[in-house]
Amino acid sequence: MRADLILTNALLADGTHADVTVSNGVIAAISTTGASDGSITSPRHDAGGALLLPGLVDGHVHLDKTLIGLPFIPHIPGGTVASRIEAEKSLRRSLPMTIEERGGRLVEHLSALGTVAVRSHVDIDTEVGLEGLEAVLSLKAKYSARMDIQIVAFPQSGILRDPGTADLLDAAMSAGADLVGGLDPAGIDGDVSGHLDVVFGVAAKHGAGVDLHLHDGGALGAFELRQIAERTLALGLAGKVAVSHAFCLGALDDSDFGRTAELLARADISIMTTAPGPVPMPPVKRLRAAGVQVFSGSDNIRDAWSPFGNGDLLERAGIVCDRQDFRSDEDLELAFSLVTEAPSRVLGRGNGRLEPGAPADFVLVPSGSVAEAVASRPRSRTVFKHGVLLDQSPLA
Ligand SMILES: [Zn+2]
Repeated sequence: MRADLILTNALLADGTHADVTVSNGVIAAISTTGASDGSITSPRHDAGGALLLPGLVDGHVHLDKTLIGLPFIPHIPGGTVASRIEAEKSLRRSLPMTIEERGGRLVEHLSALGTVAVRSHVDIDTEVGLEGLEAVLSLKAKYSARMDIQIVAFPQSGILRDPGTADLLDAAMSAGADLVGGLDPAGIDGDVSGHLDVVFGVAAKHGAGVDLHLHDGGALGAFELRQIAERTLALGLAGKVAVSHAFCLGALDDSDFGRTAELLARADISIMTTAPGPVPMPPVKRLRAAGVQVFSGSDNIRDAWSPFGNGDLLERAGIVCDRQDFRSDEDLELAFSLVTEAPSRVLGRGNGRLEPGAPADFVLVPSGSVAEAVASRPRSRTVFKHGVLLDQSPLA
């Protein structure tokens, strides 16, 4: 027998050392170091005792928005979501690099940091049309050997307030987008039912999932979450719907939180949080205890919405810990699951664990445990995709 690769002497999360056999881009076996089948002749890579982590999964990026690779562009202040939408549109008309060039640089940067799969929202509006989608579809094909890219058709400028967008969302799904997005049904479109009618109508037509941005806060946001859950259940989309941000979940009284979380769990709706700084954050443990899956992602990485963001998911897990006051090893491992196992399930990639049958997408880091990797965010990352060692380095 010949395998594609045998990774030897890797430290596993449980503290043991193992050899990992890869065949056809998939993990074929994990065995105690030295105990693997000696008759297998294959290329070997000595992990040297480095910690083996599953490939990181970014549950929320915007490949079309990033300014990475360009000279630093000062942030244009905007106090509201609506004003930032206009500021971004103005900026993107003048950028000297194409969406594909900028997005490609970001894919390479993320890949070097150990990210093997992303869910990217892509702006769909009446000005840019499907141009961003076509660029990201091109990136999806071009980088298939290093990154799995799932695409959400995202109505960044609203749906009802930008007439024609509903048809564009439908066209985006026909053109290859994987999920239908949405944005603040109340705060941006001022019509919860009207907005959700379009989002869920397009999703149902294409048999696709949904991932909405929801910044609306407090009781209004919670009402919208329940509306989303009701529609999810009515359309049989349980397990295929996510809500990104959902700041409101961090600011509800017990009664409102309880009934909202119960409905989210029943509709199997996942919640994405970046662990934002200046606004309430969905409580990770409380939601999990209620049966709601929580996952994380980078969101804006040096774009018109934020001059910050570096796409490092180990750092993101650390930010989750910081905001949730997670300090024990168990807590740090929980945060790590928000950038590995949870987004893997959300993206339909299985449970995100290293086990036979799983994609051979993994990362070696110089750490003694998962908790240490989250705490120390080692810069050195040796990344394998489909069992192939990637040769790359992140942008400065
Ligand atoms: Zn976003």
